[in-house]
Amino acid sequence: MSISYRSTRGEKGASFEDALLHGLAPDGGLYVPAELPDPDFRAAMEASSFHEMGRRILSAWVEEEVGAEALARITEDALNFPVPLISLDGGGWSGVHVLELFHGPTLSFKDFGARTMARWMGHFLDVRDEKVTILVATSGDTGSAVADGFAGQDRIDVVLLYPKGKVSPVQERQLIVERPGVRALAVEGHFDDCQRMVKEAFMDPSLAGRGLSSANSINIGRLLPQMLYYAWAVRGLKGNVPFFCVPSGNLGNLTAGVLAHLSGMPAAGFLAAHNANDFFPRLLGGEDATFGSTVRTLSNAMDVGAPSNFERLDALLERTQLRRLIRGESVTDEDTITSMRRIYEQTGYVADPHTAVGPEAVRRRRDELPEPTVVLSTAHPAKFPETVHRAIGFEPEAPVRLASFWDRDVAVETVSPTLEALRAQLVR
Ligand SMILES: *Cc1c(COP(=O)(O)O)cnc(C)c1O
Repeated sequence: MSISYRSTRGEKGASFEDALLHGLAPDGGLYVPAELPDPDFRAAMEASSFHEMGRRILSAWVEEEVGAEALARITEDALNFPVPLISLDGGGWSGVHVLELFHGPTLSFKDFGARTMARWMGHFLDVRDEKVTILVATSGDTGSAVADGFAGQDRIDVVLLYPKGKVSPVQERQLIVERPGVRALAVEGHFDDCQRMVKEAFMDPSLAGRGLSSANSINIGRLLPQMLYYAWAVRGLKGNVPFFCVPSGNLGNLTAGVLAHLSGMPAAGFLAAHNANDFFPRLLGGEDATFGSTVRTLSNAMDVGAPSNFERLDALLERTQLRRLIRGESVTDEDTITSMRRIYEQTGYVADPHTAVGPEAVRRRRDELPEPTVVLSTAHPAKFPETVHRAIGFEPEAPVRLASFWDRDVAVETVSPTLEALRAQLVR
């Protein structure tokens, strides 16, 4: 089976390979499937491993283009870490589960998409005998997942842009460790500046022909692998159809869940849990909301005033369908800290400040949400030791794969928040 893609702004007829390698459609829109495949979720869930389940689901999406053998090799190689579903017990949390998505090499859910996408791209570039440079704007976790996932792929260079001083020390360390084929740029501005610079570079005629591509969640290649852990949770709950709560920023994670559901995966609905960047919850609440400027919060990987993937959700669902399928909540920093403390005291579970936005949203909606509810845990708490300490009085223990980043060499350059500055880096 092979799925074709269309742009959210109109253009039709792109292959998966085109959509993956270009990231953004030529008309400036985002790629969405033109028609939805029909994977056999029931059969997929009988698989004994995550990667085998993933292969079965993704085969309906990409097998014809990627090839059966390459797809099997890539999913096995990329999705090689555990995905535990933990039941929160005690203190009124019965029926609430946490799906831990942070057991990959950079300790956030972004490893799923980045690792798989890197291998898909490497595969197509080998066939084409071409090279690309990936530009990534990151508010924290995307950059390290992409840098780690793509490092060492012969045909791919990576340039990372992150807002200087606006990511946590651990996040920064993960971004700037030296990696083959990866260059880190600390931008004197906000995440939105980084995102704008990347978009401008794509539109810049003088950079055309340089093989620029993206690995942000604007790339459909990141979203497809992110469908898989939703299915893994469904599998783990053995027939009880879950309601999903998704701590959200740029809305890539949520869009992946919606894509899985639209292509047949059972789900009772979704709750988009946002921090103070509340455009989407306001829209879902019935307001005629518009994008806002970005507000800084403790859950900085969710600090997105203008979520790119809204354009996808808007293209996939009518407004009434959107509001029926998805609810939204916005949680302040103060309530995030309280949430971390409450979960710890009531269940012993240590949540990071991104994940913690989820249970707080669930708590507020407890009366109306069906059980079971699955909260996606997007990062390991040890990535945010300062905030965890503030909430529960001690720092979480860092897993070895995190601690080892401090033993490595670093390389980073500071640049101003302009297209000129980025262009200078790309043409040298
Ligand atoms: C990226 C990220 C998010 C937000 O995910 P989106 O797909 O942008 O909505 C949430 N939590 C963590 C830890 C992240 O890294």
